[in-house]
Amino acid sequence: MRVVLVGPPGAGKGTQAVLIAEHFSCGDVATGDIFRANVAEGTPLGRAAQRYMDRGDLVPDELVIAMVMDRLAARDCDAGFVLDGFPRTVAQAEALDHRLARLDTPLDAALNFEVTEEELFRRLAGRSAALHRSDDTEQTIRHRLEVFAEKTQPLVDYYAHRGLLIAVDAIGAVEEVTTRILDALMAKAKAK
Ligand code: AMP
Repeated sequence: MRVVLVGPPGAGKGTQAVLIAEHFSCGDVATGDIFRANVAEGTPLGRAAQRYMDRGDLVPDELVIAMVMDRLAARDCDAGFVLDGFPRTVAQAEALDHRLARLDTPLDAALNFEVTEEELFRRLAGRSAALHRSDDTEQTIRHRLEVFAEKTQPLVDYYAHRGLLIAVDAIGAVEEVTTRILDALMAKAKAK
């Protein structure tokens, strides 16, 4: 299974990515987690990414694309992958498409997590308190949502045009949302 997760910060992509990857025994690639690990270790990539992350801005495409292409070459992605937080721009989506076309391993689906803005704020404020993420302050949250609307929202059309988009109602209990996703992926595979 090769899927990408699209949706604003706080939509529950990370939680569901782990469960979907487990279900299909494939790689779980979360770009935000990889960046945070690099920041914590003080690597050159982490140092380059940190100032963008702290402001709630996107890390430049060339850095992200190189990192993800490298990660997708790892063994655990041979059986497929769940990409959480990538792509976030059309340029990133195109880079992913080029790689997958070259390998003749096309995407199966793009899951679009749909959540209301009030629910997002509620969840992100809760996460800020629980995890002390430096990019979950109210001002940064607002900025990240703006960046999402401007840079990432166009991916909904991008994947809809390619017949890959699956809308996911991301409000509800974790298990309910997982069931919705797995049912939708199964229905899409059958319809092929
Ligand atoms: P996340 O945990 O997915 O919300 O990502 C945290 C931060 O990492 C984002 O606000 C960005 O600064 C950076 N980041 C993660 N994924 C990407 C991406 N695909 N493109 C650009 N920046 C990213």
